[in-house]
Amino acid sequence: MTIGDSIQNPTNLNLARLQDDLTEWYRINHRHFPWRETKDAYSIFISEVMSQQTQLSRITAAWDEFLSIWPSVESLANSNLSDVLTFWTSHRLGYNRRARFLREAAIKIVQQFDGEFPRSVDLLQTLPGIGPYTANAIASFAFNTGGPTLDTNVKRVLHRAFGPFDNASDMEQLANHIMPQNNSRIWNNSLMELGAITCKTIPLCDLNSCPWKGNCNAYSSQNFSIPVSSNSSTFKGSDRQIRGEIINILSKRDFMTLSEIDSHLFSSMPPQYNSNLLPPLLSSLESDGLIQLDMLDQISIVRLPR
Ligand code: SF4
Repeated sequence: MTIGDSIQNPTNLNLARLQDDLTEWYRINHRHFPWRETKDAYSIFISEVMSQQTQLSRITAAWDEFLSIWPSVESLANSNLSDVLTFWTSHRLGYNRRARFLREAAIKIVQQFDGEFPRSVDLLQTLPGIGPYTANAIASFAFNTGGPTLDTNVKRVLHRAFGPFDNASDMEQLANHIMPQNNSRIWNNSLMELGAITCKTIPLCDLNSCPWKGNCNAYSSQNFSIPVSSNSSTFKGSDRQIRGEIINILSKRDFMTLSEIDSHLFSSMPPQYNSNLLPPLLSSLESDGLIQLDMLDQISIVRLPR
């Protein structure tokens, strides 16, 4: 009988065994990262936002450096946005909007929560840029009070072990069902780690001794399909890439004129990337609060916000 069969008939599922097998596997096999050794919500918050688009193994140096510059939520709340954006871009940490939200969340925590991170998932989600995944991650890793953290890796594990699922809400129901009470810290870490190092796109069920392979639907059928991803858009040449490049070049100057940005951006790009793209991109960056458009001696200039 597979885990999936047992979920259809929960009386057959030995949940305690399932949970123990996974957390024991985690204790023996997990990778050591500094944010896994702390319960400090601010440090965990920074690692979660950084890791949303960057592999964990690549953010250790950036996380250390960020915390040495802005060691507390108060210091980040008092920072200059342009400094945070410059840091984000120079460390290639993905969407610049996340850097702005990070600082805005710090300001809100200082102003509305006396500098203390809220402990509940609902309150965490009132902070700028924090959605259900990040709220559950912070609540779990800092306070042990979160719900399931359904990132891409976890969805892949659940889909293979228990699925396939007809819809996202069936998977969420299952994720809640199998989660041990009051133990979200180790549970979410364990599931995320299983997805990251064993139940990878090409799974290493035997090589990495997956603790669930004796009952996994995918292992028993040898059908290792993965859920359809909603994040499959191409980055190279995308608006996101060009927006990132604009922030990157602005971070090296006090300001630039439109024609300077234009020639810097498009001179070495294929013809489909041309000046026509610049106005809408600048306008979207301005409405996201990531740049300022000003006039200087009757010439339009662009700079990072101060
Ligand atoms: S047995 Fe293989 S497919 Fe199943 S959960 Fe483990 S690693 Fe994933």
